[in-house]
Amino acid sequence: MLKSGSFELSSFMEKVITRNPGETEFHQAVREVSETLVPYTLEHPEYCEAKILERLTEPDRVVIFRVVWEDDTGEVHVNRAWRVQFNNSIGPYKGGLRFHPTVNLSVLKFLGFEQVLKNSLTGLPMGGAKGGSNFNPKGKSDREVMRFCQAMMTELQQHIGEDTDVPAGDIGVGGREISYLFGQYKRMRNRFTGVMTGKGLSYGGSLIRTEATGYGCVYFCENMFNRLGDSMRDKTVCVSGSGNVAIYAVEKAIELGGKVVTMSDSSGFIHEPDGFDYEQLKFIKNLKEVHRGRISEYADKFPTASYYAGERPWHVPCDVVLPCATQNEITGDEAKTLVHNGVKAVSEGANMPTELDGVHRFLEAKILYAPGKAANAGGVAVSGLEQSQNALRLSWSRLEVDERLKKIMKDIHDKCYWAGRESETYSNYVKGANIAGFVKVADAMLAYGIV
Ligand code: NDP
Repeated sequence: MLKSGSFELSSFMEKVITRNPGETEFHQAVREVSETLVPYTLEHPEYCEAKILERLTEPDRVVIFRVVWEDDTGEVHVNRAWRVQFNNSIGPYKGGLRFHPTVNLSVLKFLGFEQVLKNSLTGLPMGGAKGGSNFNPKGKSDREVMRFCQAMMTELQQHIGEDTDVPAGDIGVGGREISYLFGQYKRMRNRFTGVMTGKGLSYGGSLIRTEATGYGCVYFCENMFNRLGDSMRDKTVCVSGSGNVAIYAVEKAIELGGKVVTMSDSSGFIHEPDGFDYEQLKFIKNLKEVHRGRISEYADKFPTASYYAGERPWHVPCDVVLPCATQNEITGDEAKTLVHNGVKAVSEGANMPTELDGVHRFLEAKILYAPGKAANAGGVAVSGLEQSQNALRLSWSRLEVDERLKKIMKDIHDKCYWAGRESETYSNYVKGANIAGFVKVADAMLAYGIV
């Protein structure tokens, strides 16, 4: 047996790739986790003998189905939808639904796999799942989105339930979509239960759920700085995305004294050199959430800003990076540029936003680097709190939920810090998140025997 585990890592990855041909995003997510966990399990033979890693990288089940719906002109459309129920060792499946034309099995398997470890880190009893469709909500009327959601739930309702699998939102699935989906579930099953999270406040939703992923990502970053006796105050921050996660990450970063200078969408990014204020953020919130407009319209309204079509914000010098758009939005070269320009911290609001080469560059530079499965766990944590409130038939106050979120993010930070600590002054949060997330799930799997 090689001490470094590099032979075991290559042969493990070879088998994963052979079993899941062409699923490049899934391979990437498994590879990132295995770089930590293969050496770790070699030191803990009980996990190797029970083939825990092999089992953990194979979903419990995948449901694939057709969704047929009619647009406003009467034309019939056929989409494909999936629910990947990855692992329910520590609780009912839980994870978002994504509506985007790039959705495929590989993307949902990578997201479901990450979700297992993320949910474990929250300390709440939640297994991991992910689902979605290649349906594109962009440019569709509310009625078209409604008909799609109703058609999708007509099938999905057979596979979910408050003690089985509890979906939530993700890219392209916000409050509007969750409401249509939940409304259809309720109609078909005649049950009002906590079967989905991210619901509206008047029908079982939790305060702070909308804000939770973005706020949590900034709380995690603040915790990393606090460990070094520093904080977000006066830091220049680059954010990508302008959706749910990005908007509330910007809001919290401003509140903690940061100067946020960029936001983006899939068409380009805006640079506001003196930093966004609350009024400008309100404009963006309204632009994206109500009018479903493009980020370029911000630069039309505020002449202090510049718009860069077709570009990402990573060449803008900054202290803190909060990638909050999508997977693989920071390449190895872009990570190199960020490090060269003196970035101090990266806290990932999005899932797997950094390519593996970029991850390696951040780790080599020993900056504060929080991987998505830890930094963006605030969203699912508050979803867990929404489930608790639904089960108790209670609603907690904004302050109470925010305090719980802060505490959960601090606990996740501390778990990752200690599991990844390499010296007095440096913790490898990637290693920490992978090990801390893994152990709880792995021990439950060992306890169940060979299943
Ligand atoms: P939204 O749909 O609200 O926003 C997504 C944002 O990312 C939009 O600005 C969108 O721009 C941009 N974007 C999407 N795809 C691309 C792309 N291929 N290239 C460049 N920009 C892109 O989604 P969320 O804010 O909810 O999710 C963002 C990320 O956070 C995802 O990785 C998601 O998995 C992750 N996440 C979300 C959680 C949540 O609670 N919502 C929880 C944990 C993680 P455009 O409008 O042009 O498409």
